[in-house]
Amino acid sequence: MTALIESDEHKALRAAVGALGRRYGREYITRIVAEGAHPEELWADAGKLGYLGVNLPEEYGGGGGGIAELSIVLEELGAAGCPLLMLVVSPAICGTVIARFGTEEQKRQWLPGIADGSRTMAFGITEPDAGSNSHRITTTARRDGADWLLTGRKVFISGVDIADAVLIVGRTADARTGNLKPCLFIVPRDAEGFTRRPIDMELKAAEKQFELVLDDVRLPADALVGDEDAGLLQLFAGLNPERVMTAAFAIGMGRYALAKAVEYARERSVWKTPIGAHQAIAHPLAQAHIDLELARLMTQKAAHLYDAGDDTGAGEAANMAKYAAGEACVKAVDQAVHTLGGNGLTNEFGLASLITAARVARIAPVSREMILNYVSHQTLGLPKSY
Ligand SMILES: Cc1cc2nc3c(=O)[nH]c(=O)nc-3n(C[C@H](O)[C@H](O)[C@H](O)COP(=O)(O)OP(=O)(O)OC[C@H]3O[C@@H](n4cnc5c(N)ncnc54)[C@H](O)[C@@H]3O)c2cc1C
Repeated sequence: MTALIESDEHKALRAAVGALGRRYGREYITRIVAEGAHPEELWADAGKLGYLGVNLPEEYGGGGGGIAELSIVLEELGAAGCPLLMLVVSPAICGTVIARFGTEEQKRQWLPGIADGSRTMAFGITEPDAGSNSHRITTTARRDGADWLLTGRKVFISGVDIADAVLIVGRTADARTGNLKPCLFIVPRDAEGFTRRPIDMELKAAEKQFELVLDDVRLPADALVGDEDAGLLQLFAGLNPERVMTAAFAIGMGRYALAKAVEYARERSVWKTPIGAHQAIAHPLAQAHIDLELARLMTQKAAHLYDAGDDTGAGEAANMAKYAAGEACVKAVDQAVHTLGGNGLTNEFGLASLITAARVARIAPVSREMILNYVSHQTLGLPKSY
Protein backbone atom coordinates (compact mmCIF):
# COMPACT_ATOMS: atom_id res chain seq x y z
CA MET A 1 0.00 0.00 0.00
CA THR A 2 2.80 2.41 0.83
CA ALA A 3 3.92 2.39 -2.82
CA LEU A 4 0.68 4.16 -3.77
CA ILE A 5 1.52 7.19 -1.71
CA GLU A 6 4.85 8.80 -2.32
CA SER A 7 7.13 8.91 0.73
CA ASP A 8 8.46 12.19 2.12
CA GLU A 9 11.95 11.18 0.93
CA HIS A 10 10.71 10.74 -2.63
CA LYS A 11 8.85 14.05 -2.51
CA ALA A 12 12.02 15.76 -1.28
CA LEU A 13 14.05 14.10 -4.06
CA ARG A 14 11.51 15.33 -6.64
CA ALA A 15 11.71 18.87 -5.29
CA ALA A 16 15.52 18.92 -5.22
CA VAL A 17 15.94 17.46 -8.72
CA GLY A 18 13.22 19.78 -10.04
CA ALA A 19 15.15 22.76 -8.64
CA LEU A 20 18.33 21.59 -10.41
CA GLY A 21 16.38 21.08 -13.64
CA ARG A 22 14.86 24.54 -13.50
CA ARG A 23 18.31 26.09 -13.02
CA TYR A 24 19.17 24.70 -16.48
CA GLY A 25 15.74 24.55 -18.11
CA ARG A 26 14.70 24.06 -21.72
CA GLU A 27 16.88 26.96 -22.92
CA TYR A 28 19.98 25.04 -21.91
CA ILE A 29 19.04 21.95 -23.95
CA THR A 30 17.99 24.11 -26.92
CA ARG A 31 21.39 25.83 -26.88
CA ILE A 32 23.30 22.54 -26.47
CA VAL A 33 21.43 20.98 -29.39
CA ALA A 34 22.05 24.03 -31.61
CA GLU A 35 25.78 23.88 -30.78
CA GLY A 36 25.95 20.12 -31.36
CA ALA A 37 27.28 19.83 -27.82
CA HIS A 38 26.45 17.54 -24.89
CA PRO A 39 24.78 18.47 -21.60
CA GLU A 40 28.08 17.99 -19.75
CA GLU A 41 27.47 20.67 -17.11
CA LEU A 42 24.06 19.31 -16.12
CA TRP A 43 25.39 15.73 -16.18
CA ALA A 44 28.32 16.71 -13.93
CA ASP A 45 26.10 18.64 -11.50
CA ALA A 46 23.61 15.77 -11.30
CA GLY A 47 26.56 13.42 -10.66
CA LYS A 48 27.98 15.63 -7.91
CA LEU A 49 24.60 15.73 -6.19
CA GLY A 50 24.41 11.94 -6.26
CA TYR A 51 21.44 11.78 -8.65
CA LEU A 52 23.05 9.78 -11.48
CA GLY A 53 23.95 6.85 -9.26
CA VAL A 54 21.05 7.05 -6.85
CA ASN A 55 20.10 3.44 -7.76
CA LEU A 56 23.59 1.95 -7.42
CA PRO A 57 24.99 0.24 -4.30
CA GLU A 58 26.57 2.50 -1.70
CA GLU A 59 29.79 0.46 -1.48
CA TYR A 60 30.47 1.40 -5.12
CA GLY A 61 29.73 5.09 -4.78
CA GLY A 62 25.98 4.94 -5.43
CA GLY A 63 23.08 6.19 -3.36
CA GLY A 64 21.84 2.75 -2.31
CA GLY A 65 18.36 3.41 -3.70
CA GLY A 66 16.60 1.81 -6.63
CA ILE A 67 14.90 2.42 -9.95
CA ALA A 68 12.09 4.18 -8.04
CA GLU A 69 14.53 6.95 -7.15
CA LEU A 70 16.35 7.03 -10.49
CA SER A 71 13.04 7.31 -12.36
CA ILE A 72 12.11 10.29 -10.18
CA VAL A 73 15.39 11.96 -11.21
CA LEU A 74 14.69 11.46 -14.91
CA GLU A 75 11.03 12.48 -14.71
CA GLU A 76 11.78 15.70 -12.82
CA LEU A 77 14.61 16.72 -15.15
CA GLY A 78 12.27 16.06 -18.08
CA ALA A 79 9.45 18.04 -16.50
CA ALA A 80 11.91 20.95 -16.24
CA GLY A 81 12.62 20.61 -19.97
CA CYS A 82 16.11 19.08 -19.68
CA PRO A 83 15.89 15.26 -19.66
CA LEU A 84 19.11 13.24 -19.67
CA LEU A 85 18.47 10.29 -21.98
CA MET A 86 21.71 8.58 -20.95
CA LEU A 87 20.21 7.99 -17.50
CA VAL A 88 18.11 5.29 -19.14
CA VAL A 89 21.19 3.56 -20.44
CA SER A 90 24.21 4.17 -18.22
CA PRO A 91 23.06 3.83 -14.59
CA ALA A 92 19.70 2.12 -15.23
CA ILE A 93 20.63 -0.67 -17.65
CA CYS A 94 24.41 -0.97 -17.55
CA GLY A 95 24.79 0.01 -13.88
CA THR A 96 22.07 -2.43 -12.84
CA VAL A 97 23.44 -5.34 -14.87
CA ILE A 98 26.99 -4.82 -13.59
CA ALA A 99 25.84 -4.32 -9.98
CA ARG A 100 23.77 -7.50 -10.10
CA PHE A 101 25.90 -9.81 -12.21
CA GLY A 102 29.34 -8.26 -12.67
CA THR A 103 32.54 -9.53 -11.05
CA GLU A 104 34.03 -7.64 -8.13
CA GLU A 105 36.60 -6.21 -10.54
CA GLN A 106 33.94 -5.04 -13.03
CA LYS A 107 31.96 -3.40 -10.23
CA ARG A 108 35.03 -1.56 -8.93
CA GLN A 109 36.05 -0.55 -12.43
CA TRP A 110 32.69 0.82 -13.58
CA LEU A 111 30.17 1.58 -10.86
CA PRO A 112 31.83 4.51 -9.05
CA GLY A 113 32.37 6.31 -12.39
CA ILE A 114 28.82 5.59 -13.60
CA ALA A 115 27.53 6.86 -10.25
CA ASP A 116 29.45 10.14 -10.22
CA GLY A 117 29.04 10.67 -13.95
CA SER A 118 32.74 10.59 -14.81
CA ARG A 119 32.17 7.43 -16.88
CA THR A 120 29.26 6.56 -19.13
CA MET A 121 28.21 3.29 -20.72
CA ALA A 122 25.91 2.92 -23.74
CA PHE A 123 23.81 -0.17 -24.42
CA GLY A 124 23.45 -1.97 -27.75
CA ILE A 125 20.90 -4.67 -28.48
CA THR A 126 19.02 -3.47 -31.61
CA GLU A 127 20.21 -4.85 -34.94
CA PRO A 128 19.24 -3.84 -38.48
CA ASP A 129 17.86 -7.28 -39.36
CA ALA A 130 16.35 -8.12 -35.98
CA GLY A 131 14.59 -4.94 -34.74
CA SER A 132 11.76 -5.82 -32.40
CA ASN A 133 12.65 -9.49 -32.70
CA SER A 134 15.67 -9.58 -30.43
CA HIS A 135 15.71 -13.39 -30.56
CA ARG A 136 17.02 -12.91 -34.06
CA ILE A 137 20.18 -10.97 -33.24
CA THR A 138 23.29 -12.35 -34.89
CA THR A 139 26.15 -10.47 -33.22
CA THR A 140 28.26 -13.43 -32.22
CA ALA A 141 31.14 -13.99 -29.84
CA ARG A 142 33.52 -16.87 -30.35
CA ARG A 143 36.43 -17.92 -28.19
CA ASP A 144 39.98 -17.43 -29.31
CA GLY A 145 42.22 -18.81 -26.56
CA ALA A 146 41.28 -16.89 -23.42
CA ASP A 147 39.86 -14.00 -25.48
CA TRP A 148 36.56 -13.39 -27.23
CA LEU A 149 36.12 -12.26 -30.82
CA LEU A 150 32.89 -10.30 -31.30
CA THR A 151 31.37 -9.70 -34.73
CA GLY A 152 28.10 -8.07 -35.75
CA ARG A 153 26.14 -4.88 -36.41
CA LYS A 154 23.98 -2.69 -34.22
CA VAL A 155 21.71 0.22 -35.06
CA PHE A 156 20.13 3.20 -33.25
CA ILE A 157 22.53 2.93 -30.31
CA SER A 158 22.35 6.13 -28.25
CA GLY A 159 25.28 8.13 -26.93
CA VAL A 160 28.13 6.00 -28.25
CA ASP A 161 30.21 9.15 -28.94
CA ILE A 162 30.19 10.13 -25.27
CA ALA A 163 30.29 6.66 -23.76
CA ASP A 164 33.51 5.08 -22.50
CA ALA A 165 32.18 1.68 -23.51
CA VAL A 166 29.09 -0.03 -24.89
CA LEU A 167 27.42 -2.98 -23.21
CA ILE A 168 26.76 -5.11 -26.28
CA VAL A 169 24.23 -7.93 -26.38
CA GLY A 170 25.75 -10.73 -28.40
CA ARG A 171 25.45 -14.48 -28.51
CA THR A 172 27.79 -17.36 -27.93
CA ALA A 173 27.45 -20.85 -29.31
CA ASP A 174 26.60 -23.47 -26.70
CA ALA A 175 29.45 -26.01 -26.81
CA ARG A 176 27.01 -28.90 -26.32
CA THR A 177 23.98 -28.00 -28.43
CA GLY A 178 25.35 -25.41 -30.85
CA ASN A 179 22.40 -23.14 -29.88
CA LEU A 180 23.12 -19.44 -29.56
CA LYS A 181 22.79 -17.99 -26.06
CA PRO A 182 22.53 -14.25 -25.36
CA CYS A 183 25.57 -12.77 -23.60
CA LEU A 184 26.63 -9.30 -22.52
CA PHE A 185 30.04 -7.84 -23.33
CA ILE A 186 31.70 -4.58 -22.33
CA VAL A 187 33.24 -3.15 -25.49
CA PRO A 188 35.56 -0.16 -24.94
CA ARG A 189 34.95 2.78 -27.26
CA ASP A 190 38.39 2.58 -28.88
CA ALA A 191 38.56 -1.22 -29.31
CA GLU A 192 40.15 -2.25 -32.60
CA GLY A 193 37.57 -3.31 -35.19
CA PHE A 194 34.79 -1.35 -33.48
CA THR A 195 33.47 1.50 -35.64
CA ARG A 196 30.48 3.85 -35.41
CA ARG A 197 28.58 6.04 -37.82
CA PRO A 198 26.08 8.67 -36.66
CA ILE A 199 22.52 8.26 -37.95
CA ASP A 200 20.96 11.47 -39.21
CA MET A 201 17.86 11.66 -37.00
CA GLU A 202 15.05 14.23 -37.13
CA LEU A 203 15.17 14.44 -33.35
CA LYS A 204 16.30 17.61 -31.63
CA ALA A 205 18.15 15.93 -28.81
CA ALA A 206 21.65 16.17 -27.42
CA GLU A 207 22.09 12.39 -27.49
CA LYS A 208 22.85 11.00 -30.94
CA GLN A 209 22.10 7.55 -32.34
CA PHE A 210 24.75 5.41 -34.06
CA GLU A 211 25.14 2.43 -36.30
CA LEU A 212 27.90 0.16 -35.01
CA VAL A 213 30.08 -2.38 -36.78
CA LEU A 214 32.01 -4.95 -34.76
CA ASP A 215 34.52 -6.73 -36.92
CA ASP A 216 36.31 -9.45 -34.97
CA VAL A 217 36.67 -7.15 -31.98
CA ARG A 218 39.11 -8.84 -29.62
CA LEU A 219 37.98 -8.70 -26.01
CA PRO A 220 39.61 -10.14 -22.90
CA ALA A 221 37.80 -12.92 -21.00
CA ASP A 222 36.63 -10.43 -18.38
CA ALA A 223 34.71 -8.37 -20.97
CA LEU A 224 31.88 -10.86 -20.48
CA VAL A 225 29.44 -9.65 -17.82
CA GLY A 226 27.96 -12.36 -15.66
CA ASP A 227 27.43 -15.98 -16.42
CA GLU A 228 27.57 -17.25 -19.99
CA ASP A 229 24.65 -19.59 -19.22
CA ALA A 230 22.35 -17.04 -17.58
CA GLY A 231 22.37 -14.44 -20.32
CA LEU A 232 18.64 -14.05 -20.77
CA LEU A 233 17.92 -13.61 -17.08
CA GLN A 234 20.68 -11.02 -16.82
CA LEU A 235 19.45 -9.23 -19.90
CA PHE A 236 15.93 -8.91 -18.52
CA ALA A 237 17.32 -7.60 -15.25
CA GLY A 238 18.51 -4.62 -17.30
CA LEU A 239 15.52 -4.31 -19.62
CA ASN A 240 12.87 -3.86 -16.93
CA PRO A 241 14.65 -0.78 -15.52
CA GLU A 242 14.97 0.47 -19.11
CA ARG A 243 11.18 0.31 -19.53
CA VAL A 244 10.51 2.03 -16.21
CA MET A 245 13.01 4.74 -17.12
CA THR A 246 11.53 5.25 -20.59
CA ALA A 247 8.15 5.67 -18.89
CA ALA A 248 9.67 8.31 -16.59
CA PHE A 249 11.25 10.02 -19.61
CA ALA A 250 7.85 10.14 -21.34
CA ILE A 251 5.98 11.38 -18.27
CA GLY A 252 8.56 14.14 -17.75
CA MET A 253 8.26 15.30 -21.35
CA GLY A 254 4.45 15.15 -21.21
CA ARG A 255 4.43 17.21 -18.01
CA TYR A 256 6.76 19.79 -19.53
CA ALA A 257 4.57 20.21 -22.64
CA LEU A 258 1.36 20.27 -20.60
CA ALA A 259 2.69 22.96 -18.25
CA LYS A 260 3.64 25.15 -21.23
CA ALA A 261 0.17 24.72 -22.72
CA VAL A 262 -1.60 25.50 -19.44
CA GLU A 263 0.49 28.63 -18.94
CA TYR A 264 -0.38 29.77 -22.46
CA ALA A 265 -4.09 28.90 -22.16
CA ARG A 266 -4.36 30.98 -18.98
CA GLU A 267 -2.97 34.08 -20.67
CA ARG A 268 -4.06 33.99 -24.29
CA SER A 269 -7.41 35.71 -25.01
CA VAL A 270 -8.98 36.06 -28.43
CA TRP A 271 -12.59 36.43 -27.27
CA LYS A 272 -13.75 37.64 -23.88
CA THR A 273 -11.99 35.00 -21.77
CA PRO A 274 -8.62 33.27 -21.88
CA ILE A 275 -8.72 30.31 -24.29
CA GLY A 276 -8.27 27.99 -21.29
CA ALA A 277 -11.86 28.79 -20.29
CA HIS A 278 -13.15 27.07 -23.42
CA GLN A 279 -13.81 23.47 -22.53
CA ALA A 280 -12.59 22.34 -25.93
CA ILE A 281 -9.17 23.54 -24.80
CA ALA A 282 -9.46 22.80 -21.06
CA HIS A 283 -10.82 19.24 -21.17
CA PRO A 284 -8.16 17.67 -23.38
CA LEU A 285 -5.53 19.29 -21.14
CA ALA A 286 -7.27 17.87 -18.06
CA GLN A 287 -7.40 14.45 -19.77
CA ALA A 288 -3.70 14.68 -20.58
CA HIS A 289 -2.97 15.41 -16.93
CA ILE A 290 -5.05 12.43 -15.79
CA ASP A 291 -3.36 10.12 -18.30
CA LEU A 292 0.09 11.23 -17.16
CA GLU A 293 -0.83 10.72 -13.49
CA LEU A 294 -2.19 7.22 -14.22
CA ALA A 295 0.93 6.34 -16.18
CA ARG A 296 3.06 7.52 -13.27
CA LEU A 297 1.12 5.32 -10.87
CA MET A 298 1.90 2.25 -13.00
CA THR A 299 5.52 3.39 -13.33
CA GLN A 300 5.79 3.59 -9.55
CA LYS A 301 4.29 0.13 -9.23
CA ALA A 302 6.77 -1.30 -11.73
CA ALA A 303 9.71 0.40 -10.00
CA HIS A 304 8.49 -0.80 -6.61
CA LEU A 305 8.18 -4.42 -7.79
CA TYR A 306 11.58 -4.29 -9.46
CA ASP A 307 13.29 -2.80 -6.42
CA ALA A 308 11.61 -5.43 -4.23
CA GLY A 309 13.31 -8.14 -6.33
CA ASP A 310 10.19 -9.36 -8.17
CA ASP A 311 11.62 -9.52 -11.71
CA THR A 312 8.59 -11.38 -13.10
CA GLY A 313 5.98 -9.06 -11.60
CA ALA A 314 8.06 -6.07 -12.63
CA GLY A 315 8.17 -7.33 -16.23
CA GLU A 316 4.44 -7.01 -16.76
CA ALA A 317 4.13 -3.74 -14.86
CA ALA A 318 7.16 -2.17 -16.58
CA ASN A 319 5.72 -3.01 -20.00
CA MET A 320 2.33 -1.58 -19.08
CA ALA A 321 3.93 1.54 -17.58
CA LYS A 322 6.01 2.13 -20.71
CA TYR A 323 2.93 1.70 -22.88
CA ALA A 324 0.75 4.01 -20.79
CA ALA A 325 3.45 6.67 -20.46
CA GLY A 326 4.30 6.60 -24.17
CA GLU A 327 0.65 7.06 -25.13
CA ALA A 328 0.07 9.75 -22.47
CA CYS A 329 3.19 11.63 -23.61
CA VAL A 330 2.23 11.57 -27.31
CA LYS A 331 -1.28 12.83 -26.51
CA ALA A 332 -0.09 15.52 -24.07
CA VAL A 333 2.47 16.87 -26.53
CA ASP A 334 -0.03 16.84 -29.39
CA GLN A 335 -2.61 18.72 -27.32
CA ALA A 336 0.01 21.17 -26.05
CA VAL A 337 1.08 22.08 -29.58
CA HIS A 338 -2.56 22.48 -30.59
CA THR A 339 -3.30 24.72 -27.59
CA LEU A 340 -0.72 27.23 -28.77
CA GLY A 341 -2.28 27.55 -32.22
CA GLY A 342 0.31 28.91 -34.68
CA ASN A 343 2.73 29.51 -31.86
CA GLY A 344 2.78 25.77 -31.27
CA LEU A 345 4.80 25.48 -34.46
CA THR A 346 7.31 28.28 -33.82
CA ASN A 347 10.89 27.88 -32.74
CA GLU A 348 10.29 30.49 -30.07
CA PHE A 349 7.90 28.26 -28.15
CA GLY A 350 9.85 25.11 -28.99
CA LEU A 351 6.98 22.63 -28.63
CA ALA A 352 6.64 21.26 -32.17
CA SER A 353 9.98 19.42 -32.02
CA LEU A 354 8.59 17.46 -29.06
CA ILE A 355 6.11 15.82 -31.46
CA THR A 356 9.03 13.86 -32.92
CA ALA A 357 10.66 13.37 -29.53
CA ALA A 358 7.45 12.03 -27.98
CA ARG A 359 7.25 9.28 -30.63
CA VAL A 360 10.48 7.79 -29.29
CA ALA A 361 8.61 6.63 -26.20
CA ARG A 362 6.17 4.78 -28.45
CA ILE A 363 8.87 3.01 -30.41
CA ALA A 364 11.80 2.45 -28.04
CA PRO A 365 13.01 0.39 -26.34
CA VAL A 366 10.08 -1.80 -27.23
CA SER A 367 7.25 -0.64 -29.45
CA ARG A 368 3.65 -0.15 -28.47
CA GLU A 369 2.64 -3.17 -30.57
CA MET A 370 5.19 -5.46 -28.94
CA ILE A 371 3.83 -4.49 -25.53
CA LEU A 372 0.30 -5.19 -26.70
CA ASN A 373 1.58 -8.54 -27.96
CA TYR A 374 3.17 -9.22 -24.57
CA VAL A 375 -0.04 -8.42 -22.69
CA SER A 376 -2.13 -10.43 -25.20
CA HIS A 377 0.07 -13.50 -24.79
CA GLN A 378 1.49 -13.31 -21.28
CA THR A 379 -1.37 -11.69 -19.40
CA LEU A 380 -4.45 -12.70 -21.37
CA GLY A 381 -3.19 -16.05 -22.66
CA LEU A 382 -4.18 -15.34 -26.26
CA PRO A 383 -2.42 -17.26 -29.07
CA LYS A 384 0.51 -15.79 -31.01
CA SER A 385 0.41 -14.70 -34.66
CA TYR A 386 4.19 -14.89 -35.13
C1 LIG B 1 15.82 7.69 -30.44
C2 LIG B 1 16.08 6.23 -30.35
C3 LIG B 1 17.06 5.77 -29.48
C4 LIG B 1 17.36 4.41 -29.40
N1 LIG B 1 18.38 4.00 -28.57
C5 LIG B 1 18.72 2.67 -28.55
C6 LIG B 1 19.83 2.23 -27.76
O1 LIG B 1 20.50 3.03 -27.08
N2 LIG B 1 20.14 0.91 -27.78
C7 LIG B 1 19.45 -0.01 -28.52
O2 LIG B 1 19.80 -1.17 -28.51
N3 LIG B 1 18.40 0.39 -29.30
C8 LIG B 1 18.02 1.70 -29.34
N4 LIG B 1 16.95 2.11 -30.11
C9 LIG B 1 16.26 1.14 -30.97
C10 LIG B 1 14.85 0.80 -30.53
O3 LIG B 1 14.88 0.00 -29.38
C11 LIG B 1 14.16 0.14 -31.73
O4 LIG B 1 13.92 1.15 -32.68
C12 LIG B 1 12.88 -0.59 -31.37
O5 LIG B 1 13.17 -1.72 -30.60
C13 LIG B 1 12.06 -0.99 -32.60
O6 LIG B 1 12.84 -1.72 -33.51
P1 LIG B 1 12.85 -1.29 -35.06
O7 LIG B 1 13.13 0.17 -35.12
O8 LIG B 1 13.78 -2.19 -35.78
O9 LIG B 1 11.38 -1.50 -35.57
P2 LIG B 1 10.75 -2.84 -36.23
O10 LIG B 1 11.02 -4.01 -35.33
O11 LIG B 1 11.18 -2.93 -37.64
O12 LIG B 1 9.20 -2.51 -36.14
C14 LIG B 1 8.58 -1.62 -37.07
C15 LIG B 1 7.08 -1.56 -36.75
O13 LIG B 1 6.50 -2.87 -36.89
C16 LIG B 1 5.82 -3.21 -35.69
N5 LIG B 1 5.96 -4.66 -35.43
C17 LIG B 1 7.10 -5.43 -35.51
N6 LIG B 1 6.82 -6.70 -35.16
C18 LIG B 1 5.50 -6.75 -34.85
C19 LIG B 1 4.61 -7.78 -34.41
N7 LIG B 1 5.04 -9.03 -34.19
N8 LIG B 1 3.31 -7.45 -34.19
C20 LIG B 1 2.87 -6.18 -34.39
N9 LIG B 1 3.64 -5.17 -34.80
C21 LIG B 1 4.94 -5.45 -35.02
C22 LIG B 1 6.51 -2.39 -34.59
O14 LIG B 1 5.65 -2.20 -33.49
C23 LIG B 1 6.81 -1.09 -35.32
O15 LIG B 1 5.70 -0.24 -35.27
C24 LIG B 1 16.64 3.48 -30.19
C25 LIG B 1 15.62 3.94 -31.05
C26 LIG B 1 15.34 5.29 -31.15
C27 LIG B 1 14.28 5.75 -32.10
